[in-house]
Amino acid sequence: KKSSLVIVYHRQPYEEAVEDGRTVFRPNRSPNGIVPTLKSFFQRTEPGAGAWVAWKHARPGEAFERVVHIDDVNGGYTVSRLPLTPEEVESFYHVTSKEALWPVLHSFPWLFSYDNVDWDTFRAVNRKFAEAAAAQAEDDAVIWVHDYNLWLVPAYLRALKPKARIAFFHHTPFPAADVFNILPWRQEILDSLLACDLVGFHIPRYARNFAELARALAGAEIAESVPVDPAFGAMGQALSEPDMPVRLRVGGRDVALDSAPVGTDAALIRSVVEKPASRAIQREIREGLGERRMIMAVGRTDYTKGMIEAMEGFERLLERRPELVGQVKLVVTSVRAAASMKVYDDTQRDIEATAGRINGRFSKLDWTPVVLFSNSIPFETLLSYYHAADICLTTPLRDGLNLVAKEYVAAKAGTPGALVLSEFAGCAVELPDAVLTNPYSRRNLDRALDEALDMPRAEAAERMRRMEKAVQGCDIACWADHVFGEFGKIGLAAPESR
Ligand code: UDP
Repeated sequence: KKSSLVIVYHRQPYEEAVEDGRTVFRPNRSPNGIVPTLKSFFQRTEPGAGAWVAWKHARPGEAFERVVHIDDVNGGYTVSRLPLTPEEVESFYHVTSKEALWPVLHSFPWLFSYDNVDWDTFRAVNRKFAEAAAAQAEDDAVIWVHDYNLWLVPAYLRALKPKARIAFFHHTPFPAADVFNILPWRQEILDSLLACDLVGFHIPRYARNFAELARALAGAEIAESVPVDPAFGAMGQALSEPDMPVRLRVGGRDVALDSAPVGTDAALIRSVVEKPASRAIQREIREGLGERRMIMAVGRTDYTKGMIEAMEGFERLLERRPELVGQVKLVVTSVRAAASMKVYDDTQRDIEATAGRINGRFSKLDWTPVVLFSNSIPFETLLSYYHAADICLTTPLRDGLNLVAKEYVAAKAGTPGALVLSEFAGCAVELPDAVLTNPYSRRNLDRALDEALDMPRAEAAERMRRMEKAVQGCDIACWADHVFGEFGKIGLAAPESR
């Protein structure tokens, strides 16, 4: 049976294990992240009408079932697994996606590097994803493609399935045209995105950057704009958003643009934080701290995350305010992505060196200023750390959204705490009650840390209350409802019986 909704995402929607010689499929272990939310879209289609396309690392010649049927809480759906060889993964994912596209998307053009031979692999892999999606889809299906490493899928799909409604969602920032234009393949990428019916972003600024690029490179007209939802604050004082383009007209067709920031599962987070087992962890953390205050900085190991800037800000704090020596602790988690890449090895080494330097300069026998966790903390434990933290220091130099900031707010569950947040994180538009900072400016980051540390308790409680309202009001269910509504506008028929 063909599918009316096909999700194309590079990760598989389950974990695969071998039990008694048989392959079994289990839901992903962590309740966190985008995968459970995307799967929940299958609950909204007719039973069995959903499909998912992902890649599977395959040894050359490895035999496995390409298409499997999964039954889980979301009902039955089909998963099509695309075998990629280690060479393809290296070229498509590490070289092109991570070394060429990622730095440009995050406005780090000086880190852009590529080898033109890899672009052919990028094309070939994108074409395979498109073919696998087309094989699952009804002619007029909604095919929802995720993220920049699949940028060329829409163009191939449009050729294979002219009547399909093709939607795309960017999980990253979309940079301004003068940065995007560094990509030698800019026209090909843009033309592919313009083959979509709907192109989605986290925040209006990214949609505006895209519309400007489409105007410059493809002569697209902005046919319709709407005022930005007043619930959104300005993204930094100097970056306020007057309106948001929602429809482009190009080559005689319409391309809808949408902005909807992904949310957290705020209710789930709160229920986890209130579990007796979590309460015990929180007590243990607080007892270990005594009267000291705890600052948390959480992120994947990536130069975009501004972890060095955060740690150096903490180091200057101890220099500037010697009375705080022995009184505050910075807990840093820097989690390596599975793939080993030199640029991330360098970032991790810098983080370790900075932690070592700060500890060498300021430690006392009974106090270490920086605690660095280099292994991933299980999500449920991480929530207890957030809950216990007085300050969350989130200073990415650029970030599509940043879920850590929203998770911190949800995990505080109404208790006072301060969020220091980079104005270059997408979620800054939703959280004007954070202590916003420009992490490129040392003085500004110092001011933000002081403001957070010295904030009167009543003000911290009030600001946290407002942030909590924003995070709950724009949670993951609300994001899914919104996106599903957009699918309706491009023609996904709702099943008679839900
Ligand atoms: N995370 C985790 N354990 C850790 C560190 C991070 O589970 O030790 C999770 C964190 O809760 C968040 C995600 O990793 O959900 C990071 O998402 P974010 O949007 O902040 O950044 P990304 O890595 O997607 O760029």
